[in-house]
Amino acid sequence: MGYVDRVLGELRRKNANEAEFLQAAEEILTSLEPVLQEHPEYERAALLERFVEPERVVIFRVPWVDDAGMVHVNRGYRVQFNSAIGPYKGGLRFHPSVDLSIMKFLGLEQILKNSLTGLPIGGGKGGADFDPKGKSDMEIMRFCQSFMTELFRHIGEDTDVPAGDIGVGSREIGYLFGQFKRIRGEHVGVLTGRGLSYGGSMVRKEATGYGLVYMVEEALRCRGEGLAGKRVVISGAGNVAIYACEKAQALGALVVAMYDSDGYIYDPSGIRLDVIKQIKEVERARIAAYADRVKGAEYHAGCGNIWAIPCEIALPCATQNELDGRAARLLIQNGVRYVGEGANMPTTPEGIEAFRSAGVVFLPAKAANAGGVATSALEMAQSSGRMFWTFEEVDVKLKNIIVNIYRSMDEAARRYGLAGDYVAGANIAGFTKVANAMMAHGIV
Ligand code: NDP
Repeated sequence: MGYVDRVLGELRRKNANEAEFLQAAEEILTSLEPVLQEHPEYERAALLERFVEPERVVIFRVPWVDDAGMVHVNRGYRVQFNSAIGPYKGGLRFHPSVDLSIMKFLGLEQILKNSLTGLPIGGGKGGADFDPKGKSDMEIMRFCQSFMTELFRHIGEDTDVPAGDIGVGSREIGYLFGQFKRIRGEHVGVLTGRGLSYGGSMVRKEATGYGLVYMVEEALRCRGEGLAGKRVVISGAGNVAIYACEKAQALGALVVAMYDSDGYIYDPSGIRLDVIKQIKEVERARIAAYADRVKGAEYHAGCGNIWAIPCEIALPCATQNELDGRAARLLIQNGVRYVGEGANMPTTPEGIEAFRSAGVVFLPAKAANAGGVATSALEMAQSSGRMFWTFEEVDVKLKNIIVNIYRSMDEAARRYGLAGDYVAGANIAGFTKVANAMMAHGIV
């Protein structure tokens, strides 16, 4: 049995209940085969076995009191997966689906994503099975304070620097930071995505969505095309989706659909992003309200059928496994040519295979959504250097990082005779640097 199969077999045996983690690990490890053949010393050093085992997982109780005086208990997590190339870095997710499998899949992906940025950041992820939907501001604040009252002892500006993710935006980062500062008495860059008045960076809010569109733009440019006039469907209506829509529209694309977890809106004349921002960022309401406010727009309950809308570019920006084989085949039938993953692992293995065999340009999450964490690393640089870059300065750096990621995954794929296979290219390019660092550190 080959090295990869042996490690995967052991991983399945030890983590049988962790479907998402196994899905991510299988995709990554199988695409590393050519690198492992070139480096037999990795097997002797049990490099893959160490790579798939988190350095540390912290699981903790998060008790909090709601507005009616009822006590609730949620489960908090921080997976400190790999610190070979820098301090652990990765977001916090507050969503009822959060469990160890989801935390570990996100942490594993994060290691390679962070490596691809070219910046010195290791991989981590965290969160809680807490549902922020329908909670008052004070309930959110009390939850964040309780969460940080345990988390603070595990993080630090040089050890582990969390950020936002699903359910954790600027409001939550503010409450988390306030509690950290209060307990530790330090105003340091321990969280990224901070507000501009207390150490945040320009472009961080926009970075993941903008970065995604910069990568699609680069893929188009390399094929002699541009975004102008292209029809785009975006799933999600949160941080990543909103700013992907903003940048796509700024570059002349026609974005015709978006969704939240209840249903999708279709607006053939182009999404009115001011209306989406008002509903989602200001009112924290449901996307259904869009169709009541914009003439000619339709609302459909349920999410899956969004992929039946004809488009040339699809940007899944909500959550894992939201785009399956059936959805991929519908998109292909209707003429999709580019897919850029804004969310983490939004496409199922069957979906990826369908895109691959149809020759669709498929830009995987760990490359396409790396703009967020890259800008977080720029926020860390500004914090420790006590400086502040302008919007334009950060935006230029973000775009350069994304173009470099595109080039390195493209080159890695070509080097192993896999031209155009960006799943393999991104995994190989990300892994190479981490593997070098792990080998240099000895058996740790
Ligand atoms: P937000 O919480 O801001 O938005 C998430 C959006 O996706 C919401 O519209 C939400 O709808 C929808 N959604 C969530 N779960 C589901 C579901 N099960 N079915 C359908 N829709 C769903 O999160 P972000 O925009 O920050 O994150 C989105 C994705 O991007 C995640 O996969 C995240 O890991 C990834 N990502 C985020 C980065 C960032 O900088 N924020 C960086 C890199 C990746 P509703 O409100 O109804 O739940």
